[in-house]
Amino acid sequence: MPAKIFREVEEEVTSFLSQLIRIDTTNPPGNETAAAKYVAETLEHDGFRCELFESQPRRGSVVTRLKGEGGGPTLLLLSHLDVVAANPREWSVDPFGGVVKNGFVWGRGALDMKGMTAVEIMVLKLLKRNHVKLKGDVVLAATADEERGGDGGAGWLVKNHPDKVYANYVLNEGAGMAMKIDGENIFTINSAEKGIMWFKVKASGTPGHGSIPGAADNAILRMNKVIDKLSSLHPEISLVPTVKQYISELSKRKSFRELSVILQNPGQSDQVLDKLAQKEKYLAEELRARIRMTVTPTIIHGGVKENIIPSECEAVFDCRVLPGQRPVEELNEIKQILEEAGLQKLSFETIQANDPTESPLNTPLYETIVNVLKEFEPKCGSIPVMLTGGTDSRFFRKMGSVCYGFHPVRPETSYSEMQHTIHGVDERISTENLVFGTSVLYNIVERFLT
Ligand SMILES: [Zn+2]
Repeated sequence: MPAKIFREVEEEVTSFLSQLIRIDTTNPPGNETAAAKYVAETLEHDGFRCELFESQPRRGSVVTRLKGEGGGPTLLLLSHLDVVAANPREWSVDPFGGVVKNGFVWGRGALDMKGMTAVEIMVLKLLKRNHVKLKGDVVLAATADEERGGDGGAGWLVKNHPDKVYANYVLNEGAGMAMKIDGENIFTINSAEKGIMWFKVKASGTPGHGSIPGAADNAILRMNKVIDKLSSLHPEISLVPTVKQYISELSKRKSFRELSVILQNPGQSDQVLDKLAQKEKYLAEELRARIRMTVTPTIIHGGVKENIIPSECEAVFDCRVLPGQRPVEELNEIKQILEEAGLQKLSFETIQANDPTESPLNTPLYETIVNVLKEFEPKCGSIPVMLTGGTDSRFFRKMGSVCYGFHPVRPETSYSEMQHTIHGVDERISTENLVFGTSVLYNIVERFLT
């Protein structure tokens, strides 16, 4: 069955995205209800019945369902409607103007992730217009609050209306963009994400005059040792299935052949990555963070006056744990390491802890994604990736859904250049990629559910 390309939807999906970008859903405060209503309105034009849910006033998420005939799994097309802030002075166009020029839709959210919302809605409409007989249901949810953790959006829906959004399989953001390696497009499929452990350490001491340091016990110096100890940790290397497969796929390509050493001898990972960092800094450091837990200080406060030795110093650490690790247990281990280093007068506070999640790779949906991509580009590859950050997928993986981040995008500039516009400046997606994304996703859903 050859893959279908839907060139005829270019104008429809482009103008929908342009309108959606014009609804400013910068979070905070979010105001996603306006966008959710717009999504509902456009779906209702095609005869869909939508439900709007507000976790709080103006924090709306919208859900709709295309019923299947039964006998197949349920697939959720998930996206979030909120975006991060954009400073118009830094942009070359109005970030909330929905500008369409030079073949691109420009604006905050074009890639993260109103572009995928537009693609998912287009796919749902096409399935209905084409009277495709699906075995399972396709659910669409466009939600609030992802950029601030999702507790007022996807997390809220999962908790309060699980029957509305539960699905055996979920497609969401997190990957899909192809990396160009040795002239070949390698499409990324997100199948895992690290867990979060944000914690605060408070170091205490004894105050004194800044002119006689020896008579006091300086909390800043104590915190200095804590930071030193935690920054020089070398947590154990662990290759989870997603990362193993990622390294194995990369090392099949000429430019990354040396990565196979990591699979054979994980103990040499740092030497291999140090070398790789000389030519591919970002990729090397990203991979380093994918093979072990990381701990890094992100906020520090201490002292009030030039000549007072402080008795308190606080620091916040951003710790990310691998699938298989438990945030709370890792924090306990960190406490023990500091204690063993002889560091006393410390107290700890957990700010946020989310479990890591991973979906298996040997599923019919994963296989369908890989096969459909091959039909569009016989020479392309696909590669599973673990995110070092988080998405709403974690709420669904915890419910037992198999969840992949996959918004198919062909590289137009370099991979890292495109990545930099996300949460950055001049975020944009080409109309070509909107057609490509719609076509790939349509074929996946059709193939998977018929
Ligand atoms: Zn996002």
